[in-house]
Amino acid sequence: MQIFTKAKHVSDDALGLHALDDLTESDRQPVACHLARCPHCRRRFEEVREFVSFLRLAAATQAAERPYVIH
Ligand SMILES: [Zn+2]
Repeated sequence: MQIFTKAKHVSDDALGLHALDDLTESDRQPVACHLARCPHCRRRFEEVREFVSFLRLAAATQAAERPYVIH
């Protein structure tokens, strides 16, 4: 997987995995390091993280509602 884009920013893939806390240790460090000094990527990361927490909430809500589904 490509961690950085040609423009030397964090790739969408890497941001997504970082939001899921799913990057390998060797990938996580350069990404975290870049986020610490790049407001552009930090803003994108915040958006991805919000999206991830929304998905988790949606999944949790769906799981909670499942017992009440009438077949
Ligand atoms: Zn950047």
